[in-house]
Amino acid sequence: MKPVIALVGRPNVGKSTLFNRLTKSRDAIVADYAGLTRDRHYGQGHLGKREYIVIDTGGFEPTAESGIFKEMAKQTRQAVAEADVVIFVVDARDGLSAQDHDIANYLRRLGKPTLLVANKAEGMRAGTQLAEFYELGLGEVIPVSAAHGEGVRGMLEAALDTLNLPEPEEETEPDPHAPIRLAVAGRPNVGKSTLINTWLGEERLVAFDLPGTTRDAITVEFERNGQKFELIDTAGLRRKGKVFEAIEKFSVVKTLQAIESANVVLLLLDAEQGVTDQDAHIAGFILDAGRAVVLAVNKWDAVDAYQRELVQRSIETRLAFLKFAEIHFISAMKRQGLGPLWGSITRAHKAALRKMPTPQLTRLLQEAVQFQQPKRSGMYRPKLRYAHQGGMNPPVIVVHGNSLEGVTDSYKRYLEGRFRKAFDLTGTPLRVEMKTAR
Ligand code: GDP
Ligand code: GDP
Repeated sequence: MKPVIALVGRPNVGKSTLFNRLTKSRDAIVADYAGLTRDRHYGQGHLGKREYIVIDTGGFEPTAESGIFKEMAKQTRQAVAEADVVIFVVDARDGLSAQDHDIANYLRRLGKPTLLVANKAEGMRAGTQLAEFYELGLGEVIPVSAAHGEGVRGMLEAALDTLNLPEPEEETEPDPHAPIRLAVAGRPNVGKSTLINTWLGEERLVAFDLPGTTRDAITVEFERNGQKFELIDTAGLRRKGKVFEAIEKFSVVKTLQAIESANVVLLLLDAEQGVTDQDAHIAGFILDAGRAVVLAVNKWDAVDAYQRELVQRSIETRLAFLKFAEIHFISAMKRQGLGPLWGSITRAHKAALRKMPTPQLTRLLQEAVQFQQPKRSGMYRPKLRYAHQGGMNPPVIVVHGNSLEGVTDSYKRYLEGRFRKAFDLTGTPLRVEMKTAR
């Protein structure tokens, strides 16, 4: 599972600027999906082949006793507790504050790998101006400038090095015959445990008892109609004996890690609530992670025609960026509409692992260009020459040519549509990247 880095510090020290730097590469790829709601607090990034999840905890006041600050402090504490490494950000220009001391005390007691980072340190030298921060008792002070990108790479390396993670494996092609790794994600109370327990109680589903393997993740293997699945312990669920139960605190970190380690995510929505902000954030994260996705609106039994209409409309507007996903309307409690989910899950998985041979991709590309040329940008018209597959789950198509920086987002979407249709990519995000020859 990807390690989790939490950014902690008082307001205005530059946490979100740093967050943007640490997550930038991913953002650039998916920036142009209509309707995509991204929670600016959760993101992912990579340093070379080393991948990570990063959480910006907002302003942290560990001693807040009431109101929104108390709630924020609670959420920050949970995120910090679940993170693998904490980056504590202070303001090199403002100097030490009482709040910094409070946060430092809290972090020291926690005893988790912590890096003390002095931001806004452009043009400063570690020795002199930053000396006062040693008072916090958190060891070395790492000067960075999030705004200018100085020292950020070294800081990130130091953060990941504290974890002694094994070298990332060379990327191997996903095995289409391996069990489908399935995560059921959704807000608290949408019906995840009800659905999973209904599944596991079904006769057509043969569950194997396997002890948990990696870290504290628990998976359950089962087989249905000859297809093997591996259900990932997700979204604040825990196995208790034979049944799944929601743990008291919904865990964002667990949800993100489960999504990351899945091939396919079943995103559950609650028909009584429609699409909420939190649903949209989880959906945005699934898209960012590039996971295949099936949508299921649960509690369909509990709503009338008017509410059904509202829910459908809220999906169209708020989850427009998941247009490629199949949608089901189900009742986990009354066991209605559950059968067809399996077809969608296996279809999405197949699509995510689809092989797209270079000759066929290139022919499709040339046909697409012939049908509609990209617009001239500046002096040159982008010249799209050939395409090859750059990855699976999500499928990545790399288009090669000249002057490709001039290819507009709408033209990329046009290409995406043609590729999707030709390769039947229902259920999976698709990334189309442009690579200009030099
Ligand atoms: P947050 O509240 O901790 O998330 O802080 P922000 O990221 O919103 O930054 C607060 C302010 O500090 C903004 O005006 C940023 O432009 C500024 N800032 C962030 N990083 C740097 C930096 O490296 N150098 C300088 N000089 N200003 C910075
Ligand atoms: P989780 O937090 O996502 O695991 O949600 P639970 O499975 O614990 O369900 C939350 C509540 O919704 C419980 O009271 C369930 O009985 C109820 N619930 C779950 N599925 C359905 C459904 O299909 N229809 C109705 N009406 N209620 C449901």
